[in-house]
Amino acid sequence: MHHFEYRDGTLFAEDVSVPDLAKEYGTPLYVYSAATFKRHYKAFDSAFAGLDHLTCYSVKANSNLSVLKMLAEQGAGMDIVSGGELYRVLKAGVAPEKIVYSGVGKRASEIKQALEAGILLFNVESVAELLKINEVAKEMDTIAKVSFRINPDVDPQTHPYISTGMAKNKFGLDIDHSLAAYKMTADLDHVEAVGMDCHIGSQLTSIDPFLEALEKLLKFYEKLKDLGMDIKYLDLGGGLGISYDDEEPPHPTEFGQALANMLTGIPLKIILEPGRVIAGNAGIMVTEVVYTKSNPSKNFLIVDGAMNDLVRPSLYGSYHRIGEVVQNGRKTEEYDVVGPICESGDFLARDRELPRIVDGELLAVYSAGAYGFTMSSNYNSRPRACEVIVDGNTVKVARQRETYEDLIAKEL
Ligand SMILES: *Cc1c(COP(=O)(O)O)cnc(C)c1O
Repeated sequence: MHHFEYRDGTLFAEDVSVPDLAKEYGTPLYVYSAATFKRHYKAFDSAFAGLDHLTCYSVKANSNLSVLKMLAEQGAGMDIVSGGELYRVLKAGVAPEKIVYSGVGKRASEIKQALEAGILLFNVESVAELLKINEVAKEMDTIAKVSFRINPDVDPQTHPYISTGMAKNKFGLDIDHSLAAYKMTADLDHVEAVGMDCHIGSQLTSIDPFLEALEKLLKFYEKLKDLGMDIKYLDLGGGLGISYDDEEPPHPTEFGQALANMLTGIPLKIILEPGRVIAGNAGIMVTEVVYTKSNPSKNFLIVDGAMNDLVRPSLYGSYHRIGEVVQNGRKTEEYDVVGPICESGDFLARDRELPRIVDGELLAVYSAGAYGFTMSSNYNSRPRACEVIVDGNTVKVARQRETYEDLIAKEL
């Protein structure tokens, strides 16, 4: 469910017309719906109401300060993967005890920053990282709380680049090495093992891989208890998929119900790290057709949004639904929707049926709220897009469009 709908043939974001937004703020433009963000967060969080749990929104999906503030106001905790994200969430007013820190390559400076802030825990991905955290905590005369990210070796049946919980992936520790790592913490004075963690991938369209991972983790939990370890948290990561095209991902309540069944009587606080399922369908990217062009085999729509603005189609071959902003009622044609960047990989869609489009028309690229703006770059010296948040009939600029001066500011 989202709040991007046609009214009399014109696309609206909540109560604001998208052509008006494009006129006011230019294109390419990211448009987010506040109501959709809040609704997704609430639907997700309430699906686990029967469990002692903490929902930590995965900041990398959409890290705009206004988005973080909005979710923090709903009570969300945050899952971060860098010092930069820590800086953002603290600025957004998130309570430190609701922050978990994941990622394979935390630097000493970032660990120190997180200890100073007083985050809830680190999701540790290697023994080397554990030793580094112990060393930094010792220098600061404190004790760092840690979970190990356990790689349960399950196949999430998703794109290889976003599968993270298989034996071949760089993430986490396999179960055997994990046991050794937990044992090691007993000899380290400045770390305390408080939890278990896993994150097996993204855009999962079935809960079975989650449950398979959970089963393995619960067996492992028994081993830790036998060692006398006091484990309080079980972090099951993010990864619930969304509908980009015709996927039918499970509703969070299905996941919540299955978890509740498997966890009855087990005194663990559950941590969840949803990103895409909160942000994905809460945003669109609006782009204008600059030129149309045909050759004997293809029709092209050359638009002003490109792979630097939305890289998912180029990076993963992902599908994003595209539609006209003002419905034109013309017969459909097949198009490649491409950007102006000097790369053949610069496309938003290939072989896509759309009503015949002419220069100057606007297109909406749907499901662009997650891994859209956050993955954008300045490639080809393109200033990054503007981001706006619509809330009812009000519009807030969440990030100004970059200028040419911004492009060179750090080079002067
Ligand atoms: C990216 C990531 C998430 C969020 O994944 P989604 O598929 O967006 O829900 C959660 N946890 C970790 C550790 C991640 O790297």
